[in-house]
Amino acid sequence: MTQPLLPDPARIRALAAEHGTPLLLLSTQVIRQQYRILSQALPGVQLHYALKPLPRAEVVAALKDEGAYFDLASNGEVDVVRSVGIDATRCIQSHPIKRDEDIRYTLAYGTRTFVFDNPYELPKFLPYKDQVELLMRLSFRNKEAQCDLSAKFGVQPSDAHELLRKAIGMGLKVRGLSFHVGSQMLNAFKFIEAIGFCRQLFNLAALDGVRLDTLDIGGGYPVPYIEPVMPITYYCHPIAAELERQFPGVRLIAEPGRFVAAPSMTLVSSVMGKAERQGLMWYYLDDGLYGSYSGKLYDHCDYQFMPLSKLEGKAGPDRLSVVAGPTCDSIDVVYDNILLPEMECNDLVVSPMMGAYTWASATDFNFFPKAKIVVID
Ligand SMILES: *Cc1c(COP(=O)(O)O)cnc(C)c1O
Repeated sequence: MTQPLLPDPARIRALAAEHGTPLLLLSTQVIRQQYRILSQALPGVQLHYALKPLPRAEVVAALKDEGAYFDLASNGEVDVVRSVGIDATRCIQSHPIKRDEDIRYTLAYGTRTFVFDNPYELPKFLPYKDQVELLMRLSFRNKEAQCDLSAKFGVQPSDAHELLRKAIGMGLKVRGLSFHVGSQMLNAFKFIEAIGFCRQLFNLAALDGVRLDTLDIGGGYPVPYIEPVMPITYYCHPIAAELERQFPGVRLIAEPGRFVAAPSMTLVSSVMGKAERQGLMWYYLDDGLYGSYSGKLYDHCDYQFMPLSKLEGKAGPDRLSVVAGPTCDSIDVVYDNILLPEMECNDLVVSPMMGAYTWASATDFNFFPKAKIVVID
């Protein structure tokens, strides 16, 4: 297991006493730090924070101070960046499928860059032809990623040149290409493959007399949940080298989400009750699979979990246990057969690395409220 980034246990106790649980402790310093190390690892690349994993104004405000750009996918995300006063020209709208009202809403804000990946999307831009600038999204299937984002979006590489010609033939302004290699992608080779293909397509476009000037390499940068991952500088080194070699002078964009958001939040929840069933200890928390741990389902993610007493060095011997959420649904089990020291009602438990795809996909099913987010710095 990797060493988690955690606030001091005494501080966690004090914050839980003040705010109640479930609680997500948000460090905007960690947000800034993640942004900075990724910027250094990808020199010359404009980092557009993808709001999806943690669409919060506090995060956007911290990144604004760092000079970041933003990647939006819905009108609600436009509202978040607007509330923080982000310059609309620092944003792109990257959802490949849009309604007319989505295009109008985004243009009214002042963001002009959109993404398409199929011919049915193109006529939607015709009324706004003089305002919009487009990126064409490519699909590079990836079974190795935790979430393969090319399963749902992107034009097949074999159809890409034809689609590009079609868009240009309709008089639309296509500025470049985009892709997403898949989220929590543990090695960088998919980026290299994708960048190489995009270079060929840039060349084919040039033969057609079209000069593309933007390449968007998407998100996917990994973070350590249970197992360590390659430090981001090493991870990005071949990507940065390939970009420098293949795309000199081209505007480069990346859309990190998880990498910026994941380490920024620690979940603190409480034991609501316990039971002994068939020799196993069962603990029922006030947060679960329908709440902050929803990423276990949707994001296929696993998180570290520990009683606060263990962090304080006060825990007893381990017993085989089950950790469940608060709802009355039997699917709502967070950990099955996990070794834990015996806990009592109201004991606090923590999970680090809970910033990305957690609160964002949580529900208040059964009216157990979503965790409250508190900024701790
Ligand atoms: C979700 C998403 C991202 C963020 O991906 P991460 O893997 O979290 O970095 C970036 N771009 C697009 C288009 C997305 O859908």
